[in-house]
Amino acid sequence: MENIVIAIDGFSSTGKSTIAKQLAAKLNYVYVDTGAMYRAVTYFALQNQLIGEGFFKSEELVDRLKEINITFKFNKKLGFAEVYLNGKNIEDAIRTLEVSKYVSPVAAISEVRSKLVEQQQLMGKGKGIVMDGRDIGTVVFPDAELKIFMTASAETRATRRYKELLERGHNLSYEDVLENVTTRDRIDSTREDSPLVIAKDAIEIDNSNLGIDEQLTTIMNLVKQIIQK
Ligand code: C5P
Repeated sequence: MENIVIAIDGFSSTGKSTIAKQLAAKLNYVYVDTGAMYRAVTYFALQNQLIGEGFFKSEELVDRLKEINITFKFNKKLGFAEVYLNGKNIEDAIRTLEVSKYVSPVAAISEVRSKLVEQQQLMGKGKGIVMDGRDIGTVVFPDAELKIFMTASAETRATRRYKELLERGHNLSYEDVLENVTTRDRIDSTREDSPLVIAKDAIEIDNSNLGIDEQLTTIMNLVKQIIQK
């Protein structure tokens, strides 16, 4: 079976990673969560007091990018690769609302993007990869064989994210989550470098009223069509 590159882009909390993980498992492909990489850089910035309420020392962050080493290690129990920053597992630490609050300004920095995009392109060199993010089909792999763009209403997305965060034991309000989702979408869609836009050849899936199985079946059918060509 021919190995292809599957790029999944879309707005915040559209369930991209849930679908991407399951798709990768079905196809025996590697799954890469590029959002986790931008979150890892943000976590580093927070840990080193380079960003916080009312300040962002972006030049210092750029100078210190060489201190940041992001790796992924497959966790058999979980069935996906967890993210590590300089050898430390930060998979849970990057999922907080605090990291979510600062990640979009960090991801708007060109030097941050070029460092991470280079690593992402290397990871996808051998194909057989499902990568999710905001610029995968437009910038990282413009020649990806299959591009999916996921959407859903902001309220649907915030509700999903809110439930997920509550289950993880976070104490926060629905309004905070909705505000974070809409603010990130605005910053991600309007930044100068690699804004979140739908690639010309992407297939749009609005999953407001679609279950995971329906989405997977739709995408698997698209994969089969491409592979059989
Ligand atoms: O996918 P996730 O919601 O974890 O991504 C967190 C943030 O990382 C996004 O809101 C966006 O600012 C940034 N991001 C990006 N490009 C990607 C993936 C994520 O700018 N390819």
